[in-house]
Amino acid sequence: MSSTIVRCNVPACGEPAAYKIAAPWSDGAFTELKTYGHACSEHLGLVFREAEQRREAYVPQPSETIEEIGIYRYEQGKRDRQLQRLWGLEENYRS
Ligand SMILES: [Zn+2]
Repeated sequence: MSSTIVRCNVPACGEPAAYKIAAPWSDGAFTELKTYGHACSEHLGLVFREAEQRREAYVPQPSETIEEIGIYRYEQGKRDRQLQRLWGLEENYRS
């Protein structure tokens, strides 16, 4: 298991990440979570909105599909498909 600690994306923060902001991505053959950022509980709204802006500005290739950005509970060492999506939290932050 990796000992690297993933931290909040806010440079001055330095707290370990509690959430992962990511969007389900597929190229038609392969599916994964495309990571847009990590946040502590204090900066979740900030990082989420910044990620949404980047998601909206991105023009996918014709073969690519990117779904809506979601908030996942970040747990060290867990695989993407094991992460719990926090639908209720997203509703609070979606613009
Ligand atoms: Zn933070």
